[in-house]
Amino acid sequence: MKTLFDRLQPGLLTILGDSGLLTGADVAQRSDSWTGRDPCQALGVALPRNTAEVAAILRLCHRAGLPVVPQAGKTTLVQGCATRGEELVLSLERMNAIEDCDAVAATMTVQAGVPLQRIQERAEAEGLMFPVDLGARGSCTIGGNIATNAGGIRVIRYGMTRQQVLGLEVVLADGSVLDSMNAMLKNNAGYDLKQLFIGSEGTLGIVTRACLRLQPRPLSEQTAMLAVGSFAALGKLLRRAGELLGGQLSAFEVMWQSHYQLVAVDSGRHAAPLPAHFPYYVLVETLGSDPQRDTELFQQAMERVMEESLAEDAVIAQSRAQRDALWAIREDIPALMLAMNSPLSYDISLPIGHMERYVGELEQALRRTWGEQARLLVFGHLGDGNLHLAISVGEDTPENRAALTELVYRPLQVLNGSISAEHGIGLEKRAYLGYSRNAGEIALMRLLKQTLDPKGILNPGKVLGN
Ligand code: FAD
Ligand code: ZN
Repeated sequence: MKTLFDRLQPGLLTILGDSGLLTGADVAQRSDSWTGRDPCQALGVALPRNTAEVAAILRLCHRAGLPVVPQAGKTTLVQGCATRGEELVLSLERMNAIEDCDAVAATMTVQAGVPLQRIQERAEAEGLMFPVDLGARGSCTIGGNIATNAGGIRVIRYGMTRQQVLGLEVVLADGSVLDSMNAMLKNNAGYDLKQLFIGSEGTLGIVTRACLRLQPRPLSEQTAMLAVGSFAALGKLLRRAGELLGGQLSAFEVMWQSHYQLVAVDSGRHAAPLPAHFPYYVLVETLGSDPQRDTELFQQAMERVMEESLAEDAVIAQSRAQRDALWAIREDIPALMLAMNSPLSYDISLPIGHMERYVGELEQALRRTWGEQARLLVFGHLGDGNLHLAISVGEDTPENRAALTELVYRPLQVLNGSISAEHGIGLEKRAYLGYSRNAGEIALMRLLKQTLDPKGILNPGKVLGN
């Protein structure tokens, strides 16, 4: 008997051509994630080249009720593009054209599948900057960044992806195309519809093109790593750095001692720039426009924070290579994954004032439950109130996962924190959405989903569940 997919295949082939539709072994070879560990279970993979093809595919799938899972760089950390067997993957990887870069208006028009790094490089070549930046820059795409409202390392200065998007083109569940390619900084004519789709993780529409806002390219960059003696000093340091650096602060990344020890020292993959016995390590970065003046300003600011005992030790990068070496420690997630044997990772936010206590209590709870087997590493974008936790508790069983996740998330409800600062909800966190959003918010989310995707074909199960 012919399956639904069998019946749709001729139509899909007409839209996409032979090279645009993968089936059978070609699908089985693919993975749903960057680690390559999650085999793709979809019925087929569609590789459209333009908006018209995306629209035609969705028209077909909508009419037939075939679920569609959007995939891009597949660097999701929350199983955002996981397949479960009865879906068509819609991969935007061939929609990778930079259509235009207007250096005067400081805008760039792109297709959704362009890798983030290519956008950064093109902006730089035009004397501008696209400020969204994250460790996965070489693999993730702008469509994925928009669909997840990605954060990253420069949020403290420039905001999340949401702040860099002027306009969007989105294909809706029924195949109609919403052209909202605004290129103006100011446009208050009615609802700002693009915001609905930014951060919706492919559940409300498929982002096909975007008009991005660019920033002036920084002409100077200063980077330092500081060792800090207490959490109280860390909070003061953040404030003081903001004051002393005159608006140039672009990153304030913190690593707890155990994280620094593991990555910078124990992994053997880096030359540790500072001794490893301090409680906290901070990567401070500024972006400015006057190399000589900025170097002096940075130097003076670092001296001041040392004099004021906000930092115990510091190293300032003197070259691009030294800067990269400092960042490599912060971004060496593979070292962490290896040493901790694929820990569970969490991406939470909470007010800075509560962080020390939260982490301390979590550590105690882990010890109580799993004893010496439990291991917790903490790092993240402290300036944004965002911590990443990597935790291993011995055996990776569903029971252990559930108990651990409860320990991590439950206190956030009381603290008005978030179970997802930047990675999104995907499949992984959907059971916990209610920890960070109230019933009224979730009801309106469901209403939006029902309105925009009444048949529930877009990325089913993600964010809101089924
Ligand atoms: P994918 O992983 O392919 O998809 C992500 C989600 O978006 C899925 O739900 C998918 O269905 C949907 N989607 C993809 N494309 C579209 C589209 N065109 N239209 C509609 N929906 C779509 N994230 C951060 O925010 N900050 C970080 O600092 C950060 N660091 C990371 C470091 C590493 C090493 C890794 C592996 C990941 C990191 N991430 C970070 C997570 C991840 O890189 C981001 O979520 C990124 O934005 C995903 O982009 P992608 O192209 O890989 O999208
Ligand atoms: Zn992050």
